[in-house]
Amino acid sequence: MNKLNLFVVEDDKAIRNLIATTLETQGYHYQTASTGSAAIMGILSSKPDIVILDLGLPDMDGVDIIRKVREWSEVPIIIVSARSEDKDKIQALDAGADDYLTKPFSTDELLARLRVTQRRLKNIGSMSSSAQDTVFKNGDLKIDYPAGCAYLSNTELRLTPNEYKLLCLLARNVGKVLTHNFILKEIWGSTLSGDTQSLRVFMATLRKKIETDTANPKYIQTHIGVGYRMLKIEDAEIKPCSAEAK
Ligand code: CA
Repeated sequence: MNKLNLFVVEDDKAIRNLIATTLETQGYHYQTASTGSAAIMGILSSKPDIVILDLGLPDMDGVDIIRKVREWSEVPIIIVSARSEDKDKIQALDAGADDYLTKPFSTDELLARLRVTQRRLKNIGSMSSSAQDTVFKNGDLKIDYPAGCAYLSNTELRLTPNEYKLLCLLARNVGKVLTHNFILKEIWGSTLSGDTQSLRVFMATLRKKIETDTANPKYIQTHIGVGYRMLKIEDAEIKPCSAEAK
């Protein structure tokens, strides 16, 4: 049974009903809203564990809702958005959303995303204040933060400082989609869009070192035009919104 409380913000009645029915079959508790203002009021009063948010609402932009909610809450937010809105997805993720689903989506995919988010919540909950000093483990991948070393199947990886920083950034945000802009800013202090190309190069060399099959990466997902996400190995059921050949 899922005892989590969800909050669903969606103005399209058919999609709202589809999400509600899906949640019901899995035993999730949920509330719904069809406008931005009702969503903000509802999230504020019901303090949900996870928010599912449509970006196109009649009275407000979904991104503004994320910004408002982030003023007082770190509740995970999963965006549901139409495929043509890559720019909106990036804006939403940069504003603090955790993940996004592209419409039309399958109910299985929605449930899989919810499980990833739940594991992410559990992860955050079990992290102590000295999380910086712990060892990160994910499948055969291990990062020893205090030692500044990363291992694959107990063999130390020979990473450049930027590759190591990139790996740590993804690991610390495991389960969350990070945009190109966010990664560039965190690692190089830059948000020049032209740098996305150099990020791609760093990612390719990092992947060669940690992925056994770079064509089917196990640890780091590519979200074309958006960014990257590290998945927990038990999250491998999740398919990226779009697959990249390399
Ligand atoms: Ca809508």
